[in-house]
Amino acid sequence: MAITKDFIRDALAPIRLPAQDTTIGASDTLRWVSACDGFVSVRMHAPDLTEKHRRALSAACFQALRARCEAQGEPLDQFTCEFVDHAGEVEHTFTLGRSRDSRPARDPQPAGHTPIAGLDPQASGMAGVRHIIAVGAGKGGVGKSTVSVNLAVGLARKGHAVGLLDGDIYGPSLPTMLRLDALEQTVLEGRLQPFLVHGVKAITIGKLVDPEKPLIWRGPMAHGAFKQLTEQAAWGDLDYLIIDLPPGTGDVPLTMAQMLRLSGAVIVCTPQKVAQDDAARAVRMFQQLKVDILGVVENMSYFVGDDAKVYDIFGRGGAQQMAQRMNLPFLGQIPITMRLRENSDAGDPGANFEAGDGPDGVLARALQELVTNVEKQVALADLRQGQTRPTLHIT
Ligand code: ADP
Repeated sequence: MAITKDFIRDALAPIRLPAQDTTIGASDTLRWVSACDGFVSVRMHAPDLTEKHRRALSAACFQALRARCEAQGEPLDQFTCEFVDHAGEVEHTFTLGRSRDSRPARDPQPAGHTPIAGLDPQASGMAGVRHIIAVGAGKGGVGKSTVSVNLAVGLARKGHAVGLLDGDIYGPSLPTMLRLDALEQTVLEGRLQPFLVHGVKAITIGKLVDPEKPLIWRGPMAHGAFKQLTEQAAWGDLDYLIIDLPPGTGDVPLTMAQMLRLSGAVIVCTPQKVAQDDAARAVRMFQQLKVDILGVVENMSYFVGDDAKVYDIFGRGGAQQMAQRMNLPFLGQIPITMRLRENSDAGDPGANFEAGDGPDGVLARALQELVTNVEKQVALADLRQGQTRPTLHIT
C-alpha cells in the first residue's frame, strides 16, 4: 500500500499537541499533506506553540509516521513539517530523516540493458506533468544549473512533486550537484527511470553520454536525445518539471525550448552589463517562441562574508534593472556564498535551505523567496494561458 494523504492524516491524528489538552486529529492543526516517493510534507497551524514545542511535535509526528510506514513495508525517507501563520506564511520548518541521501533508484535494473537503446519510442512520459519550467541563460557559468537544482529542491521541500531534467548537453552538472556519480541509470518497461534524490526525480544527459567524448551537437541530434529524456522517461505525476537548458540562443537550446509545452521560462543573469546583454537575447528567444517569461533571477548578486558583511562585487541590482527595462517579473537576488558553492560541489543542495546565522541564513531566505516567486508566476501564467478553470463549489 502506498503512503496516501489519508494514511498520513490517520497516523498523525492521535498525536498530542505539546502543553495542550488536544490532539492533531481533534484540532484543526493539520492544514495540508503531501506525499511522493517516500517524501512526506505536512503544513500545520499551531499559533500557540513555541518553537521548541513545534520541534518536539515534528519529531513525534516523524516517529509515529515512520513506524506506521515501516509496518506497511513502505520506507519513509524524509519528513518535512512546516508551521504556518494565519496568512499561510511559513514560520518554522523542520526536516527529519535522510535529507541528504543519494539512494539508488528503487526499480531493479534489467541485466545487460543499454539504457538509451531500450526505450519505447511510443511512450508519452510527460502526460502527468502539470507545469514545465525551462531555466535558461544567455551564457554559461552564470549559475543556471545552480538555480535549476535549488528551485527543484526548494519546490520539493514545500511539498510539490518535482522533476529535474538536466538538458545542458554542453556541460551537464547534475551528476555532481545531486551526487549521482555512483548511481546507475536504469530502464524499466521501456522508460528511463529518474533518480530519486533530495526529494526530486532527476534525469541528466550526463549519465547517458560519455563525458570523455564530447559530441558536436546539432539541432536534429538534440531533438532526438531530448525526446528520449522527456517523453521516454518515467516522470509519473509531477507538479513541476524543471528543465536546465543549454546556455545561449543557438539552435540546440532553441530546438529544445520549441519541443516542450512550457509553462514559462526562468532567466538567470548575473548583475554585470555584459551578462545583461546576453540574458536579454535569451529573453527575446523565448518571446519569439511565444514562451511566457516567468521572470529574471539575479545570481551572484552580492557577496556575504562570514562576518555577515555584504560586499557588492558585480554591481547588485543590474539584472533587476534589466528585468524592469524589459517589463519582466523579477524573481529575486541570490548572493555569492561559499556554502552554496561547497554544497553544489558536494551534491548536497538541501543544506542550502538550512538557515543559520550570517551568510547561511541570507542564502536560505533568498532561495525560499525565489521558490515562492516562481510558484506565484507559474500560477499567473496558468491564468494567462487559460489552464485554470474556475470551479463552483456547492455545499
Ligand atoms: P551554469 O549552469 O550557468 O554554467 P553553474 O550553476 O554550473 O553555472 O555555476 C557555475 C559555478 O559557480 C559552480 O561551481 C557553482 O557552484 C558556482 N556558483 C553558482 N552560483 C553561485 C553562488 N551564488 N554562490 C557561489 N557559487 C556559485
